[in-house]
Formats: sequence, structure tokens, C-alpha cells
Amino acid sequence: MQVVILGSGSPLPDPARAGPSTLVRTAVGDLLFDCGRGVLMRAAAAGSGAGAFRGLYLTHLHSDHLTDLNDVFTMRWVTSLVPNPLPVFGPSGTTAVLQATEAMLEPDIGYRLAHHDDLQWRPSATVTEVDRGVIFEEGAVRVTAAPTDHAPVRPTVGFRIDEGERSVVIAGDTVPCAGLDELCRAVDVLVHTVVRRDLIEQVGLPRLTDVLDYHSSVPDAARSAQRGGVRTLVLTHLVPAPVPGTEQEWIDQATAHFNGEVVLAADLLTLDVI
Ligand SMILES: [Zn+2]
Repeated sequence: MQVVILGSGSPLPDPARAGPSTLVRTAVGDLLFDCGRGVLMRAAAAGSGAGAFRGLYLTHLHSDHLTDLNDVFTMRWVTSLVPNPLPVFGPSGTTAVLQATEAMLEPDIGYRLAHHDDLQWRPSATVTEVDRGVIFEEGAVRVTAAPTDHAPVRPTVGFRIDEGERSVVIAGDTVPCAGLDELCRAVDVLVHTVVRRDLIEQVGLPRLTDVLDYHSSVPDAARSAQRGGVRTLVLTHLVPAPVPGTEQEWIDQATAHFNGEVVLAADLLTLDVI
């Protein structure tokens, strides 16, 4: 199994960091977790693409985590030679978001159907709204969901991917909570979104300070990793984006609370989970 951070950024546009998105490459195909800004550019750099995704898993319906849903939906359609519905798993509300995305694309769908004689079908998705438990199982690969806590955003879910003896958790946006702890038990790699409380408090802008309510700080994520006995903690969705030269500060804030390995994400960071 391999983890590729496609986007390590936050809602704020950044020239070096795409929006939140992680690819988990398994024996049964590429599983995409969230689809923030620039996801298909980064997937192309990783040698993957919309037609190849075995499934799209949404942790929640905040816009920065699905900015490019329309791109994934459309590119899967136009690059597939046969009907290839996009399997989507996400919290309650995901069906409505897919329906609205399709409605928004209606002019484009009409143009392409009229123009391409060999394109005889509409884009489509098979949506499964999930809450808790095993949501996908094929061969040695199993995906499990559990509720997380990103209140007042509700509902939200985290995902655990097991392949044989190896495991990865995609926490999404959450404060420490029982659902995340369940997923993280003895996991090899925990990919966790984080914010820097100290830096955000220094800025002091109310709209920015608000994000502290419902995200984990770096020490929060580290303590969740420590409780779970995680092997490697990957810090991603970095708010604010690290100023070059300050990367070690992020790592030090985590290692103060966690005995395992800490990795600060960059776009296209690739980890072999072996
Ligand atoms: Zn969020």
C-alpha cells in the first residue's frame, strides 16, 4: 500500500500546495480521499487520474475538501470509453451534493453529448452515504468509516484502510474524539489535518481564530496518534502554510506528544506502507 499526499494545503490558495486530497494506492486500485483544489493535476503527476479511481471517499462536505468534485466527475466521464460510474462514499448529504454537481454541469453535459457521437451515456456516480463500520471490502482491502467531530459541521467521517497487515487512517478535519481513536488503533500511518494554534492566535483575525474550534492543533493530532499507538503521523492541510525554514517547528510540536515518526506533508509526498 502507498500513500500519496495530492494536496497538503488549506482553503487559502497557495502556489505550492493544492487543496486537501490524499491518494491511497492499493492492490485493488487507487482510493481517493477528498478532492480539493487541483486534485487532478496532482493525480496526473502521481500517474493516476479520474478514470482510474476505485472510489472517492469524502470526509465531509466543506467546500475546500471537494472543490474539484466537478472536475473528477466530468473527467471520469469523458476519459472513459465505456460507462464508468464514480463510486462515492461520504457522510449524509453526499447524495444531494452529487445531484447538485450534476445539475450545475448540465450545459456541459449537453454540449458533449451533442458533439461526440461515441459518447452515448451521461456521467454518473454511485453514492453510498456512510456513518460507521466496514463500507468497502475487496480482496485483502477493507475500508472502515467512523464518525469524527468537526462540529458544527455534521456529520463528518474518518476512514481506515486495511490491506493485509498494513493500515492507513485518513482523519479529515476533526478535533480529538472517540471515533478517531477507534480508527487509529495500532495503525501504521495516520494522515491528519492540523492547524497551528499559536500562529493563528498571533494573527488574531476572528474569522481565522474561529477555525481553532473545530480542527486539531498539531499537539492535538500528536496526542491522538500517541493514544492509538500509531507508527507514522503525517501532518497535512497545514494552516497557516508553513513559512519555508519553519518546518521543524511543526515536527517539534508533534514529537513533544508522540513517540513515533512525524512527517510534514508536501504535495506529492509518497509513503510506502510496508
Ligand atoms: Zn472542514
